[in-house]
Amino acid sequence: MYFTPPLARLIEEFQKFPGVGPKSAQRMAFFVLNMSAEDVGKFAGVVVEAKDKVKHCGKCFHLSADDPCEICSNTKRDSSMICVVADSRDVIALEKTREYRGFYHVLSGLISPLEGRGPEQLRIRELINRAHNDGAQEVILAINPTIEGDATVLYISSFLKPLSIKVTRIAFGLPMGSDLEYADEITLTRAMEGRREV
Ligand code: ZN
Repeated sequence: MYFTPPLARLIEEFQKFPGVGPKSAQRMAFFVLNMSAEDVGKFAGVVVEAKDKVKHCGKCFHLSADDPCEICSNTKRDSSMICVVADSRDVIALEKTREYRGFYHVLSGLISPLEGRGPEQLRIRELINRAHNDGAQEVILAINPTIEGDATVLYISSFLKPLSIKVTRIAFGLPMGSDLEYADEITLTRAMEGRREV
């Protein structure tokens, strides 16, 4: 199928998005062409602005326009607990439950030898230093029950336990390999309450 080059390029760009196949990419490109020039300009501006302003918090590595982020700068939160997650989206999922009042630490991925991602590529050293320096009493690992998740939990706990920090992992009532990000609030609240020492 032949599309005029600027349209073909737009389709190509949309196809780079996760979960977007050729058909969806075409639909999105046609949608953009049907938008008013003003709306397209606004949309492009929002994309550029997000990329420009959203950074990682220097303390917990959550995505935020502020550094430290809104969570780290909240003095009412419980500093004895750090909840470790793979991804910023997990912070959002846990915050939605409104149950957890401690701080977070975003690893930016999980240990995966298959994908060539070792512990040094994650924010693990920063976590250990932080847990130690801030006097955390409990580190809660809210990490998916996958092979990568288990390897990451094992690695982190081997460093934290000698520091006499209690290390727990949230209890997944979720099927193996399912994503924390997609769990509903009640399931997540239960998983947090049912956390067990590792
Ligand atoms: Zn932060």
